[in-house]
Amino acid sequence: MTSFWDDCKKELEKRIDPHNFLSYIQPVSALEMKDGELSLRVPSMFFADWIEKHYLDSIREVMGLQGRAETKVKFVVDAQKPKVEVRAPAVVKHKKKALPALFKPQYSFDSFVVGKSNEFAYASALQCAKKPGTQYNPLYLYGGVGLGKTHLVQSIGRHILEQNPDAKVMYLSSDQWVNQLISRIQKGQMEEFRNTFRNLDVLLVDDIQFIAGKERTQEEFFHTFNELHHAGKQIVISSDQFPKDIKKLEDRLKSRFASGLIADIQPADLETKIAIINKKAATNGYAIPPDVAEFLAETIKSNIRELEGCMARVVAMASLTGKPIDLAIARETLEGVYANEKKNVDTPMIQRAVIDHFSLKPTDLKSKGRARNIVIPRQLAMFLCREYTEESLPHIGKAFGGRDHSTVIHAHQKIKKEIETNTRLYKDLTEIKKKLDL
Ligand code: ADP
Ligand code: MG
Repeated sequence: MTSFWDDCKKELEKRIDPHNFLSYIQPVSALEMKDGELSLRVPSMFFADWIEKHYLDSIREVMGLQGRAETKVKFVVDAQKPKVEVRAPAVVKHKKKALPALFKPQYSFDSFVVGKSNEFAYASALQCAKKPGTQYNPLYLYGGVGLGKTHLVQSIGRHILEQNPDAKVMYLSSDQWVNQLISRIQKGQMEEFRNTFRNLDVLLVDDIQFIAGKERTQEEFFHTFNELHHAGKQIVISSDQFPKDIKKLEDRLKSRFASGLIADIQPADLETKIAIINKKAATNGYAIPPDVAEFLAETIKSNIRELEGCMARVVAMASLTGKPIDLAIARETLEGVYANEKKNVDTPMIQRAVIDHFSLKPTDLKSKGRARNIVIPRQLAMFLCREYTEESLPHIGKAFGGRDHSTVIHAHQKIKKEIETNTRLYKDLTEIKKKLDL
């Protein structure tokens, strides 16, 4: 009986949001099974109500999976029982998996949604995982924040380990590399440091841009890279930029990084974002209505991490207030999140940031110049003014050399469309926004 419930729990864990699982399902234990009725011990009435309302369907479903669809469920409130420590076992649980702790269970090729924006990166990563060290070496994945680089890099490591559990696979971000190097240098253990990395079969380095500007680190990395590469060991690198564009990265590293296969991940299109929402929802055991999915996908421009976060907030809000997940609750929730986007920034600040970023002359944004290297920054600046200030369209137009309000609208639309496909411009925008704290 206990093992029946334990098996149910295992299935439930796959369906329910991890946080909710830990809060509501993990603490529940089985008391007895009698006359086709399973008694579950819960710590309070509140628990019983909550589970009944939110998870009973899932519980029934997983019971069905065990061939016991007919089982009835009864809740027994047992306040005496000391509260179950939910956090500790949860951590152990992940560790119990054969995968080393550094691989997150949710990052796999299966859970990655493939669309136009990432299909090349996905296919390259999968190929590389299937035949490590043979074809694409190094594999260099790059793309903006939250677009799935870590997800893919981890999927490669995971896949290789699943195929060959003895493979020596190391995943780390380049700042962890830096930290390990520093600590080994301080302890006088360079030999150990080198051995750790140079004996690997697969080295996965996430966010390589963080080694930029650090000479000794780059030097070490260069030698490790060469040694592994020479021995036919797979190297996978991710970054937010194309190798050539990483400032303060030694040329010899740039050329090494570009010597294998480079695959970029572009911001996802609307359909892909919706597919990601649906997949994520299904995994966690809830459904997002199509209009809500579309609203979320439209509101969150490109960062999938942000998209997931917003979706989780909407779901949490619905569950806390006992309301259905609908457009109204989605709007209400996201309003809170994005309410203060129009803040602390005005047109001159935006213009200065754009001028700085593109190294323009102060007058360029207001001039009549039509050269592309001026037009695009000018449109980008107008876009930012429209998105992030309360200024009226005519007012913005005026600040850009007395232009018409329709010019501002046009600029806004153009940039909005362009950043969906133009990674370079998207990166410019991200950097400027970062500088402006937006
Ligand atoms: P990056 O490393 O590029 O900043 P991550 O790999 O951390 O981005 O991705 C951010 C989040 O978005 C992760 O939770 C990841 O699982 C999810 N994600 C990104 N792209 C996809 C995708 N195509 N399918 C499913 N989930 C995705
Ligand atoms: Mg990452």
